[in-house]
Amino acid sequence: MISINDALKIINRFPVGTKVETVSLFDALGRVLAEEVVSPVNIPPFAKSAMDGYAIDSEDNSRQFFIRETIPAGFDPGIELQKGECAKIMTGAMVPRGANRVIRREVTRERDGFMLVTDIDKGSNICLKGEDIAAGDTVFNAGQYLDPQHVGVIASVGFDRVRVFLKPLVGIVTTGNEIIAPGEELPPGKIYNSNSYSMGCQYLKYGCDIRYQGMVGDSRDEIRAAVRAMLKTCDVVVISGGVSVGDFDFVPRVLKKLGFTTEFEKVAIKPGKPTVFATMDHKVAFGVPGNPVSTFVVNEIFVKPLLFRMMGRKLPFPFVRGKLAEDLKVKKSDRTSFIPVRVTAGRVETLEYHGSAHLLALTRANGLLEIPRQGQDLEKGTQVDVRSI
Ligand code: AMP
Ligand code: MG
Repeated sequence: MISINDALKIINRFPVGTKVETVSLFDALGRVLAEEVVSPVNIPPFAKSAMDGYAIDSEDNSRQFFIRETIPAGFDPGIELQKGECAKIMTGAMVPRGANRVIRREVTRERDGFMLVTDIDKGSNICLKGEDIAAGDTVFNAGQYLDPQHVGVIASVGFDRVRVFLKPLVGIVTTGNEIIAPGEELPPGKIYNSNSYSMGCQYLKYGCDIRYQGMVGDSRDEIRAAVRAMLKTCDVVVISGGVSVGDFDFVPRVLKKLGFTTEFEKVAIKPGKPTVFATMDHKVAFGVPGNPVSTFVVNEIFVKPLLFRMMGRKLPFPFVRGKLAEDLKVKKSDRTSFIPVRVTAGRVETLEYHGSAHLLALTRANGLLEIPRQGQDLEKGTQVDVRSI
């Protein structure tokens, strides 16, 4: 049995090659930039009025201003204001030469082609050329995850497409004679397959593509055939169930038979001890224990870092700090444990949790409390690290 950190070191040593594709902007959401984005333009590209009002020279203390032009958004006014002159200007319109201030319309009055200022108006009400982004500025680096606001910025500097890392394709294999598909009748002794869906959704949420063809029984042949089929197209295959010491736990043996090298097959983690990590050339297989909370936790802790690396995506710092809301009894264990907790404003509450089959508990949690190996009981108020989920 190896420690979580040693297991992560082994996973992080596995060389991954990132591939790149060019996508249009709507397809860029949730992708990871594979290039630096350097702005070819100033934003704003010209001094722009932030208000509807009148452009003037702030040094000009005329009592009233002759309205020389009306400047709508979208045109180059091409004029230069002289003393005693103003231009009626709309929000987003180009400020004319000779003006460095816009008086808001609300504090003015118009009479006989002249504008009079009726109240004090602080501020220039002008967005300066290049004040947000200067031409030549690097706006984003490679590795940037693209949220809607990032896509908007890329459009704002004039690009209609962008280079992003290719999504890894993750193949899902679910094993177990007792597992049946949701939507069917539930015969005695069977349970519904939840892992394929929770796992698949984890990978989709990380930004990967998935492939899933259904469940297989606890049979070497079926498992072998399913893994082989996934390996044709997938970079990573994750097999749920059948990794432990039961009579019908065939996954580790099947992976060896297929030519995989077992990198580790037991980790000091609770839940998730019989996790298998195996590699063959540039392909990877994980065997994750079938209990739904174990499956989820193992994906978060071990599979996610590898998939993020394949996408060129930075792994966010996973922990939040908090203080225990209640005393916590800790069982002696040679494994690092994770239990579902809810963190609210730095207060860490433990939740009703029946063990690693209790998936519903995870839906009430927003984090996993990490309890170190050989941990002692923890008193209310103790500062703890919680892994956000
Ligand atoms: P295993 O890892 O195959 O020993 O399975 C451990 C426990 O997880 C057993 O109680 C299984 O019935 C359950 N389990 C295995 N696969 C799934 C699945 N796909 N969905 C829900 N529970 C599962
Ligand atoms: Mg099983």
